[in-house]
Amino acid sequence: MKFGGTSMAGTERIRRVARIVKRQQDAGHEVAVVVSAMAGETDRLVNFCREANPLYDPAEYDVVVASGEQVTSGLLAIALQALGAQARSWLGWQLPINTVEAHAKARVDSIDADALIAEMQKGVIAVIPGFQGVSEKGRITTLGRGGSDTSAVAVAAAVKADRCDIYTDVDGVYTTDPRIVTKARKLRHVTYEEMLELASVGAKVLQTRSVGLAMKEGVRVQVLSSFIDDDAPAADTIPGTMIVGDEELEGMDMERQLITGIAHDKNEAKITLTRVPDKPGAVANIFGPLADAAINVDMIIQNVGRDKGETDVTFTVPAADLARSMDLLESAKEAIGFNRIIPDTNVAKISVVGVGMKSHAGVASTMFKALADRGVNIVAISTSEIKVSVLIEEDYTELAVRVLHTAYGLDAVEA
Ligand code: ADP
Ligand code: ASP
Ligand code: MG
Repeated sequence: MKFGGTSMAGTERIRRVARIVKRQQDAGHEVAVVVSAMAGETDRLVNFCREANPLYDPAEYDVVVASGEQVTSGLLAIALQALGAQARSWLGWQLPINTVEAHAKARVDSIDADALIAEMQKGVIAVIPGFQGVSEKGRITTLGRGGSDTSAVAVAAAVKADRCDIYTDVDGVYTTDPRIVTKARKLRHVTYEEMLELASVGAKVLQTRSVGLAMKEGVRVQVLSSFIDDDAPAADTIPGTMIVGDEELEGMDMERQLITGIAHDKNEAKITLTRVPDKPGAVANIFGPLADAAINVDMIIQNVGRDKGETDVTFTVPAADLARSMDLLESAKEAIGFNRIIPDTNVAKISVVGVGMKSHAGVASTMFKALADRGVNIVAISTSEIKVSVLIEEDYTELAVRVLHTAYGLDAVEA
């Protein structure tokens, strides 16, 4: 069972979480619980690091930001004990949850679950802080924002859980963020592939890596709400959203939509380099240093050449990596040979996702037309087999998502 930040925000909510957990144990399950920091806490800690130095050491950033989950794991164990349950916390380094050295975006390598399983079999509820692990060098690592989902799936795989229930502040995965589009529809099932793509383009209900890991390890993941009454049906019968394999979905008698969902992402920043030499190797000179620093470049456009063999190159990086990217590019200015560097954080990426796209033409043109009709300008475009993304001005995010939700016929019919 995993509980997110809103579900863990304050002792009152933690006590409710404890009751939900206890009910599962009372129903005969052995339970491990993964928790997030209280809502807003990780942002607060990240800001402290930025204030201390915008070019902070990622290893020390991890020490700071991992602390939010330490607090909530201890508190949940206390709340469970207050209900008469046996419970204890295991921090990432205590289990341990071994990760690679990549600070602030570490990947889980292995989890030593023997002690955990032994205690769980004795009736102890294991409480594990999400988001954190320990590197080969014995240093604290974190798994990237939203990483507690990945911790939960990794623990579920390590203890060979029957299911990994992700409790959050919405009651499932919707066709788009239900906080933006009130007509969003809840999906009873979504395939790993579609969820992976939706998450990777910004549907933050699950961290992308958690979906990839669940797919690889065959973990059954369910998304459901923690905001339920004490007498609500138990998780085994709750209609959340199940993430399922393609074969499983095919076996179900349901009509498949062309588009599964729409996501937005305001966490990208755009960088334009003007007057880059239009010659072989120029682009490699730009992206080489970024790749070496493990900065993920997403959308890239190289404009048509200007006179004098020059061109402008525009691309996006995670907003969190903007300061470092600018710094790296400035240092490589001579080697790259650009004129000006223009950052822009006022952008958002809007994506439509659906496996049905593989065999249907016209998905992208519907998107471009719907946005054009509302006067939304498209700055960049990227596509994959099952998604189309556009970069637009951030102020138009909500409008664009709503318009596209309607254009693809996803709006829920009013009851
Ligand atoms: P937690 O703290 O529980 O991990 P998150 O805030 O990370 O919760 O994720 C839940 C949020 O994801 C919801 O409150 C919702 O606003 C957002 N969200 C974005 N896209 C979707 C979607 N397609 N379906 C459901 N929720 C979504
Ligand atoms: N607390 C971390 C974050 O806010 C991890 C998580 O909640 O999943 O990113
Ligand atoms: Mg989350």
